[in-house]
Amino acid sequence: MCNNCNPRFMAFMRAYGGRRDTLRRIGAGMLFTGLPGLSGAGALAQAAPATPAAAAAGPADTIFLARRFHTMAARRQQAQALAVRDGRIAAVGSRTEVMGLKGSGTQVIDLGDLTVLPGFVDPHMHSNFCGLRPWLDVGPFTTRDMEQARRKIAQAAGAARAGEWVQAKMLDPSLMPGKPLTRRDLDAIAPQVPVFVLESNGHVAYVNSKAIELAQVTKDTPDPPQARFGRDADGELNGRLDEPPAFQPFVSVLPKPSHSEFVGFLRADLDDAAARGCTALHDCGIGGLYAEGDIALIEAAMKTDPGVRYAGMLVSTHMKKWREMGLRPGELAPRFTLNGIKAWSDGSNQGGTGYQRQPYLGGSNRGALNYKPEEIEQVVREAHGEGWQLGIHANGDAAIDVTLDAFERGTRGAGGHQLRHRIEHCSILHDEQIARMKKLGISPSFLIGHVHFWGRAFRDRLLGPARADRLDPCHSALKGGLRISLHSDYNVTPIDPLRCVQNAVLRDMREGGGVLNPAERITPMQALRAVTIDAAWQCHLDHLCGSLEPGKAADLVVLEKDPLTVAPDAIQSIKIHSTWLDGRRRHAA
Ligand SMILES: [Zn+2]
Ligand SMILES: [Zn+2]
Repeated sequence: MCNNCNPRFMAFMRAYGGRRDTLRRIGAGMLFTGLPGLSGAGALAQAAPATPAAAAAGPADTIFLARRFHTMAARRQQAQALAVRDGRIAAVGSRTEVMGLKGSGTQVIDLGDLTVLPGFVDPHMHSNFCGLRPWLDVGPFTTRDMEQARRKIAQAAGAARAGEWVQAKMLDPSLMPGKPLTRRDLDAIAPQVPVFVLESNGHVAYVNSKAIELAQVTKDTPDPPQARFGRDADGELNGRLDEPPAFQPFVSVLPKPSHSEFVGFLRADLDDAAARGCTALHDCGIGGLYAEGDIALIEAAMKTDPGVRYAGMLVSTHMKKWREMGLRPGELAPRFTLNGIKAWSDGSNQGGTGYQRQPYLGGSNRGALNYKPEEIEQVVREAHGEGWQLGIHANGDAAIDVTLDAFERGTRGAGGHQLRHRIEHCSILHDEQIARMKKLGISPSFLIGHVHFWGRAFRDRLLGPARADRLDPCHSALKGGLRISLHSDYNVTPIDPLRCVQNAVLRDMREGGGVLNPAERITPMQALRAVTIDAAWQCHLDHLCGSLEPGKAADLVVLEKDPLTVAPDAIQSIKIHSTWLDGRRRHAA
């Protein structure tokens, strides 16, 4: 699930980030440079042209040689050499063809037996949670079980200096075997150091006695509205906090990052993405935390010249503000484009809030819509009418129905062909919905980690096998003529396109083994397209990246092994040799 669609959690993040006005000032000079006042619509309209100029003639700056280039282009899918001039691809082809561009100053880089692909594109991630970056990760992607989480916390408490907190994140007792955390446990491993542990869903946290003392909460403190301090039978606090309003007294005494620290955290997230082979990221919730402050933070981080380009969607809830600011689809700053509006139709399937046609197992709950259908339709009508792409989060099959209705009516049947409207996650998807998407020109971006990490929970505990089989049906979507992409929804799962590829190829379930509907597995080539050219297309970046073709940016990932020839279960462990943006090396193993 996106924590962006959990308003209370976002309130927690805002409180943790401190004063909104100061956050807004991060990079504010950059945000408003070139915008005459807040209504300078013209300034953005004059941004750099969307289509790259053809590379000028003359010798190449760099020529790469390698045994295999998988170009992901429609023509010439294999090559052995690639020439770069002024950061753009000047030629791709055989050694003989490309070496014709070698001049006296050309650097030739022989990559030997390595494999080169277009830099990966993560088409759906979030910058909003970069503030949690320095927190200790005790979540299921890095931590085996609850016992190991306890050990990590104990170790951090042992290393903490006087006055420091242990702040831990991503705990997920639903995926991690072992006993739940209690105040007593935490007191035993951290008697002196205050501890705050956040679950990955953003709804639950745990604290120890030292934290309770600093927050000045006692057994006599009443529960905040719509939230609870967990209590033992005798009323004493047990250290569990349910819902973000109960986190508030603790958040107000937690150390808060400074502006420059925030920029550093986001920059470090971008560096991590480059280390996983990404050269482009697409943020599906800009503005969800600090409205225009989010844009300013991204601009400030992009000004530090990271190894990835950045694009994204603005949250629909601030439409009026975006209009006042004169924001339009297009380039906002070098390597940073805005192209869409993001809305959330429902919640999370694993959280029981995704909106389903039939109830979840064992009850009458069908989840819920976040908006009335006519309100979603209105969001579509406005954004579509103003030329924005739309990305609508829809997890349950009934939410997908409502979203498709909204696209059909809100665009007066025009659909998404020009603007490439998307459904985000599009998790429980039936064949007749795929046919409607095809007709309307709407494409899905799948959070494929759902299958691997939560597949068993969906099948056995939440939806039953028939509906779980329809989770992220990549094969059916491709068969139905849709272009698909695979995303991390970072920080829901780590940014790691090769892991996404492996998950789509295998559909193996981490919990208990087994395969979730083998008929929906796709080939490594199909999955690679979903993290390169088709992802770039969905992000309106395909004129610039996503395939290795003359005129496009020289955005490359160099892999130690070829994902098309290794065993499928070895794809995610292929080492990233290096990542190149605009022909410059930006990450090296
Ligand atoms: Zn998301
Ligand atoms: Zn989402």
